[in-house]
Amino acid sequence: MPAKGKIVVNDFYCKACGLCVSVCPTQVIQLAPERLNVRGYHPAEQFQDGCIACATCAMVCPDAAITVYRLTPVAEQEA
Ligand code: SF4
Ligand code: SF4
Repeated sequence: MPAKGKIVVNDFYCKACGLCVSVCPTQVIQLAPERLNVRGYHPAEQFQDGCIACATCAMVCPDAAITVYRLTPVAEQEA
């Protein structure tokens, strides 16, 4: 069974380049269609479940805007 995870994007640093969106193997990231950050970009966000905590998005982000969390069984129960 693949790991379960989630990401948190630091809106301030995201410049909406879309790299994370394009590499996510489970396609759970989008550029927030109705939200802008203070620099005027639509920031990336996880919009549905299915993150497997592979960290590919965090590795490709040129601005280190993504933090990946691997959910433990206890955390999954609390989520
Ligand atoms: S950690 Fe992997 S599965 Fe999760 S959002 Fe990033 S690229 Fe997608
Ligand atoms: S790779 Fe980084 S800067 Fe580019 S859209 Fe994703 S979070 Fe934003």
